[in-house]
Amino acid sequence: MLPQETVVLGGGIIGLSCAFEAARRGHRVTLLESGELGGQASGAAAGMLAPFSENTEQPDPFFQLSLNSLRLFPQWVRDVEEASGIKAELMHTGSLSLIQHEADLLPAQGRLAWQNQWGAGAELVQGSALRKLEPNLSRHIEAAVFNPEESHVYAPKLVAGLIQACRRLGVRLGQHAGRLARLELRQGGGAAIQMMNLEKEIQCDSLLLCSGAWAGELESWLGITIPVHPIRGQICSYPGSAEELRHMVFSSQAYWVGKQNGEIVCGASEDVAGFATGVTEKGIARLTSASSSFYPFLDNRALIRQWAGLRPATRDGFPLLGRVAGRSGIIMAAGHYRNGILLSPVSAKLAIDELEGRSRSDELRPFSPNRFTYI
Ligand SMILES: Cc1cc2nc3c(=O)[nH]c(=O)nc-3n(C[C@H](O)[C@H](O)[C@H](O)COP(=O)(O)OP(=O)(O)OC[C@H]3O[C@@H](n4cnc5c(N)ncnc54)[C@H](O)[C@@H]3O)c2cc1C
Repeated sequence: MLPQETVVLGGGIIGLSCAFEAARRGHRVTLLESGELGGQASGAAAGMLAPFSENTEQPDPFFQLSLNSLRLFPQWVRDVEEASGIKAELMHTGSLSLIQHEADLLPAQGRLAWQNQWGAGAELVQGSALRKLEPNLSRHIEAAVFNPEESHVYAPKLVAGLIQACRRLGVRLGQHAGRLARLELRQGGGAAIQMMNLEKEIQCDSLLLCSGAWAGELESWLGITIPVHPIRGQICSYPGSAEELRHMVFSSQAYWVGKQNGEIVCGASEDVAGFATGVTEKGIARLTSASSSFYPFLDNRALIRQWAGLRPATRDGFPLLGRVAGRSGIIMAAGHYRNGILLSPVSAKLAIDELEGRSRSDELRPFSPNRFTYI
C-alpha cells in the first residue's frame, strides 16, 4: 500500500528527482522549497557525469553508487524529457583527465587497470592521438586518460525538466516557503512540518529530507549528528562551441565542458566561505589563468557569465542516503558534494525504494544518515 501523503523538503536536483520518482510511482507528493526551485547548487552545476574521473583511487561504495547512477542516466533523461517536453542536453562526449607530470603516469596506469575491470573502456592517449581528440588543447600536455563513457547534461535544463515533469504528475510545488520553523516526528510515524512563510502546519505520512548544504540545520529536530557543510564552487563561462572543446577535460587546476548552448563552462573553485554565494576576483582569476594556459584560444575571449553555488559536503565525503534514526517514513537524501547531478537518478530510486520498504539492506548501509551519531 502506498503512503498517503509524502512531503519532500528541498527543491534542488535531489528533492525534485525524489518527488518525480515518488509521483510517477503513484505517491501523492508535496515539495516545499525555502527559496526558488533549483536556485542553489543544482542550478549552478557544470552537469558532468563523471564517476571515473571523480573517483581515481579505488572502487569503493561511493564509486559504485556513482557508476550505477551514470548507467541509469540515459533512461532517466529520456523519462524526464518525455514527462516534461524539455531537453536536458545530454551529451556523450567522453572525458580526458590530463596527465601534467611524468610522475602522474604510474598512478594513471593503476587507475586504468581497476577502472577497466568496471567496464570503463578507458585508455591512455598520447601525442598525436591526444591532439586528434582535442585539437585546441595546449601543446604542453602530452598525455591524458580518455574515458569514453562519461557524459554531461545542462544542469539548469534538467532541473527545469524535473520541475515541469513534477507539475504534470500533480506534485504540489511550494516555492518561497521560508526556513523550517518546526519539525515534529510523530510517534506513530510521519511528521508535522511548519515553514516560516506558510500559515498552515503540514502533516505527512512520509518525509524526504533533501535540503543540500542546509541539511545540518535538521540536527536539532532529528536528534542525530549531521556533519554537512557548504563548500563554495565558483565557475564561469566563455563563448565557444562544443566543436572547439570536444570532451570534458579535467586538469589539476580546473575543468572545461563545451555546452550545446554555445558556452564553454570552466570550473570550479572549492572555498570555505560559509553560506556566501558571490564570486570573488581571485576565484575567477584562477580559472581564467588556467584556461589561458590549457586552452590558449580562450585567452582573448571575454567571459559570458560567472557564478557560484554551495556544494553540500559531508565529513567522510559520502552522501547521507537512507532512513533517519530507524524511522521507516523519514528518509534523508543530502550531502552529495561534487556529484549531486550525477547521483540524482540513483538517489531518487534508492530513496523511494527505501520509503516503500523495498531496498536491499546492504545497498544503503555505507550511506546511512545515522553513521555519525554515537549514543
Ligand atoms: C560550481 C559547481 C559545479 C558543480 N558541478 C557538478 C557537476 O559537474 N556534476 C555533478 O554531479 N555535480 C556538480 N556539482 C554538485 C551539485 O551541484 C550538488 O551536489 C547538487 O546540486 C546537490 O543537490 P541538492 O538538491 O542536494 O542541493 P541544492 O541544489 O542546494 O538544493 C537544496 C535546496 O534545499 C533548499 N532548502 C534548504 N533548507 C530547506 C528547508 N529547511 N526546507 C525547504 N527547503 C530547504 C535550498 O533552498 C535548496 O534549494 C557542482 C556544484 C557546484 C557548486
